[in-house]
Amino acid sequence: EEDLALVEGGDLAERAESAPATRPVVAVVGRPNVGKSTLVNRILGRREAVVEDVPGVTRDRVAYDAEWSGREFTLVDTGGWEVDASGIHLRVAEQAEVAVELADAVLFVVDATVGATDTDEAVVRLLRRSGKPVVLVANKVDDQKGEADAAALWSLGLGQPWPVSALHGRGSGDVLDAVLDVLPEESAVGSAYARGGPRRVALLGRPNVGKSSLLNKLAGEERVVVDDVAGTTRDPVDEMIQLGDKVWRFVDTAGIRRRVHHTRGADFYASLRTQTALEKAEVAVVLVDASASIAEQDIRVIQQVIDAGRALVLAYNKWDEVDEERQYFLEREIERDLVQITWAPRVNISALTGRHLQKLVPALETSLESWEQRIPTAKLNAFLGEVVAANPHPVRGGKQPRILFATQADTRPPRFVVFASGFIEHGYRRFIERRLREQFDFTGTPIEISVRVRE
Ligand code: GDP
Ligand code: GDP
Repeated sequence: EEDLALVEGGDLAERAESAPATRPVVAVVGRPNVGKSTLVNRILGRREAVVEDVPGVTRDRVAYDAEWSGREFTLVDTGGWEVDASGIHLRVAEQAEVAVELADAVLFVVDATVGATDTDEAVVRLLRRSGKPVVLVANKVDDQKGEADAAALWSLGLGQPWPVSALHGRGSGDVLDAVLDVLPEESAVGSAYARGGPRRVALLGRPNVGKSSLLNKLAGEERVVVDDVAGTTRDPVDEMIQLGDKVWRFVDTAGIRRRVHHTRGADFYASLRTQTALEKAEVAVVLVDASASIAEQDIRVIQQVIDAGRALVLAYNKWDEVDEERQYFLEREIERDLVQITWAPRVNISALTGRHLQKLVPALETSLESWEQRIPTAKLNAFLGEVVAANPHPVRGGKQPRILFATQADTRPPRFVVFASGFIEHGYRRFIERRLREQFDFTGTPIEISVRVRE
């Protein structure tokens, strides 16, 4: 919690290396209890079960880094949450729809011991419409005897059913080979966007904060036909909106517009949506309902933005409902819960009345500028030299680690590497971050500082 703004040890840099932006995405889809989670665990080669028996349990992570035969991909797990017994048919189809939209290929899991159900058939229709490559898993084929059950699934019309026992591992290698055969080298979803073109913005926030209202208000009459904008590719889930003198690309807006997922599993969708939108976006506007108390979920979304290393603007929406008393309490809540991100620009807006919406663009531009800022090494070291001379690291055990040299290793977001003669305490790192922010104005961007110890 305390470490909200500072990601240490350069793990983001490592992540960036190990997870190229264009890594393709495989979604695992199917009815409850067919063995999706078991299969995901099998593919990831881990034993700890994510199989949850408690209704309403949500897991933070839904996408995992996976590897097979030397190829890396992202595995999206849609298991691990309970659906209502009523309306199960619809829910599974919805779940599949979202996952498929976000995937380059689909692993469709059917329980071969049960055979194809109506729900399975519904999912098949949806998969066909999507045009995405599908690999059909006939699961729970634990032995030779089950092969006949698997063969019966040819009837689904999805081609060869691959007999698999997710539980025991039988056939799982073959099915992964089949996935790799249909998986593109590079993702067509995710962040497979070239740089340049309109700036990419994600509108984020928990359900009912006003994302859809804001999108509508901003779009107004100004919706731009995608084909008219140079350097854009067609993507129906994005929306191009002219604000001021520029066109902005609001990414992944289909989920905002559709609004069908405010049911069970809503947290799951919210988290999945946020994650994908962030992959595509350069800057995020996180909406917070100013008329209600700041919630755990608000903080979680903000943390996701920081973890993804994206620029950030905080929009306190529903300001039309904020009276003096509410504002007093809101400011106290911000001091208590969001003190770590005082660096994010803040706008107090109303999507309903249009109040202060014109302040959004300057805030976005400020954050993006900071996100791309590069401090020349000489300037950085001159400044750090002064800071360190005036406020040296405290002596610990008779030793005093010295800061030797620093460099900005990267931008988008800014990443600094500080070389030191010994371990730099957490508090001192935060102090350095604070001073860097004061001096160079990183308004609206997370920054990372990693320390390398030189003997
Ligand atoms: P999900 O709801 O689709 O994610 O399904 P789970 O992975 O939670 O599995 C549901 C149940 O089926 C669990 O009790 C698993 O142990 C069981 N199961 C999963 N795969 C297999 C399999 O290949 N063979 C057998 N016999 N059982 C399996
Ligand atoms: P989403 O789930 O984040 O897309 O939220 P919606 O845009 O659907 O808004 C949820 C509810 O809040 C709707 O009833 C909106 O009319 C209302 N709402 C959205 N923005 C504002 C606002 O600025 N002021 C007020 N008073 N209500 C708003």
